[in-house]
Amino acid sequence: MEDADTGSAHSVSRPALVVLGSGTAVPRRDRGTSCYIVAAGDAAFLIDLGPGALHRAACAGYDLDALDAILVTHIHPDHCTDLISLQFALRNPGPRAGREPLGVWGHSSVEDQARRFREAFPGWLDAPPGRWDFHAVTPQAGSLWHGTLPGGHRLVAGCVAHHASSVGYRLELREGPIVAFSGDATEGGDLVELARGADVFVLEAAGSDRDPIEGHLTPRRAGALARAAGVGRLVLTHFYPDVLNDPIAAQARETFEGPITLAQDGWVHPLMS
Ligand SMILES: [Zn+2]
Ligand SMILES: [Zn+2]
Repeated sequence: MEDADTGSAHSVSRPALVVLGSGTAVPRRDRGTSCYIVAAGDAAFLIDLGPGALHRAACAGYDLDALDAILVTHIHPDHCTDLISLQFALRNPGPRAGREPLGVWGHSSVEDQARRFREAFPGWLDAPPGRWDFHAVTPQAGSLWHGTLPGGHRLVAGCVAHHASSVGYRLELREGPIVAFSGDATEGGDLVELARGADVFVLEAAGSDRDPIEGHLTPRRAGALARAAGVGRLVLTHFYPDVLNDPIAAQARETFEGPITLAQDGWVHPLMS
């Protein structure tokens, strides 16, 4: 890893990126399923919630009361399965009592998936009305979607070539920093435009050159996308076990000249524009 800041997530007050899941659905002691938090001012946004993500977020100081929005990149299990835990938890009287609904942002397929989870556990995931609500992001090919998150932070979404439900996100924080998330991705869609000039680009590099995974990037290809987008820092993530045998940063360095970080669970990175 290069330029790592290994500070604790518990004391974040400045804008920061917190990595809570740099792995995949393949269980590993050191890397959980996809999950990140962007903390800005008094707001905290959680990006993707694979299995166990909400527990990891609580361990890092971000329980359900501390979250202001949840953004879902797509409906593959390693990115959205904790929508089950979320709906189950919100049946209880404790979390977010008296608060505004917790907003979940995503492609309309995310709302459909949440409903399918409720149908799979009849009666057990029916949170009372007003505990959470859904906000559809609707980017079109060649046209980014623009919205606003709680606290007045700007949210931009764009089409990503991976799955029909895939969107990437660009958070333009009120304090200035811009951080972009690919979710799972390969070349195409509007990913480069979405990440254009971002201070930090959290980009997947799931597969190796030796055994690339369909619908995913490799470190060299991720570096090329980061260069095309002209980002300030490239944060590589979503490592399947095979690629972890490779010199990931060195491979990305062949195609991207700027700072490169390999995401690690628990890593906290200050966001500065
Ligand atoms: Zn996926
Ligand atoms: Zn994935």
